[in-house]
Amino acid sequence: MKFWNEKFETMSEDEMRKHQLECLKKTLKWVYERVPFYKNKFDDTGFKPEDLKKLEDLGKLPFMVKTDLRDNYPFGLCAVPLSQVVRIHASSGTTGKPITGPYTQNDLDQWTECMARNLYAAGVRSNDICQNSYGMGLFTGGLGFHQGATRIGCAVIPISSGQTERQIVIMQDFGTTVLFSTPTYALTIAERAEEMGVKLRDLPLRVGVFGAEPWTIEMRKEIEARMGIKAMEAYGLTECGGPGTAFDCVEQSGLHLNEDHFIAEIIDPVTGDVLPYGTKGELVFTAIQREAFPVIRYRTRDITTLRREKCSCGRTLLKMDKIYGRSDDMLIIGGVNVFPSQVESILLDVKEVEPQYVLIVRKKGYLDQLHCDVEAKPETYEAGPQKISEIEKMIENKIRGMIGIGIKIRLVPPKSITRSEGKAKRVIDERKL
Ligand SMILES: [Zn+2]
Repeated sequence: MKFWNEKFETMSEDEMRKHQLECLKKTLKWVYERVPFYKNKFDDTGFKPEDLKKLEDLGKLPFMVKTDLRDNYPFGLCAVPLSQVVRIHASSGTTGKPITGPYTQNDLDQWTECMARNLYAAGVRSNDICQNSYGMGLFTGGLGFHQGATRIGCAVIPISSGQTERQIVIMQDFGTTVLFSTPTYALTIAERAEEMGVKLRDLPLRVGVFGAEPWTIEMRKEIEARMGIKAMEAYGLTECGGPGTAFDCVEQSGLHLNEDHFIAEIIDPVTGDVLPYGTKGELVFTAIQREAFPVIRYRTRDITTLRREKCSCGRTLLKMDKIYGRSDDMLIIGGVNVFPSQVESILLDVKEVEPQYVLIVRKKGYLDQLHCDVEAKPETYEAGPQKISEIEKMIENKIRGMIGIGIKIRLVPPKSITRSEGKAKRVIDERKL
């Protein structure tokens, strides 16, 4: 079969909108009657669930933001009694309380369905051997992938992240065909394999499904080349139940959104105005099939573009561009907005350096300055200080030319940047220290 769920993945726009409206009506009534937070918010705007006549009426409702989730920690937004909850995930916040994600059995089933579509579109089939190198535990990545691959009928190896050498040995011994991990951990595995003299290209490994971090197209190509695989993406967030919200198809030109489960909007992050398809802005999600924790107009902070277009894979599901960056990660240097992904794209094109870097924001007087430590390849480093300085200048000029900002590049010795086993830390903001 060509699709995991042909009915929903190839549904006409009209039918999809009808389905969404029906689910949205139910969800609004559901949360209004069960969660005081929503009742108060809707009442403040003078909105009753029965006022929703068409999908566009959703725009009359206020947004939800991350602090709403933190303020109601741990179960203030849960729409069912805890006796009906069968799983609780949480995301590790860097500041403050984590975000909790409770699930009913139905929620787990629909999440598994979304993940199965995601993996099936990536080319994963029941005869595959899937090595799941996402961290298992509270983080939604590990179990989300586990469930999706199990539903397809794959043999899943729940190895979790870390112990990289063992990952490579298992990969060889078990004949792993599919890898699940963060993109930066895939790179760590590729590098370790090269050091061990293991040629990943000669192994049965053929597909990787990566997510939980924003990564550039250049990074995808790098992973594909080093591992000899097709690198596909899974997009999601704890607030929407984990990975599987949107996924790559064989075309790799944007992610298909599981629209029968989530309504997506793009807004101007400053004014909050809804923007038309094709415009870059902040992604907002409404979950329309969840029972325990259906967010309404949740601002993700992720910057992307939505597109309604024909895809050669045959799916009709709305497409979204690869996440450009998180508005939280956006740096303002000399008045110019910069995303780490823009710097990453340029670094990955420089053959003298490794795709390992850290951006450091410092304050000098009143001005913010951006520094970047990037790892030299051994042969670059061995060529001596003059060569190193040349490369540094060359990268600085490239970045000035392409992004329009001054950045101080420093080439650091091979292997001096800590390797990622999960989500990589790419930006250090010394202004906040
Ligand atoms: Zn497609």
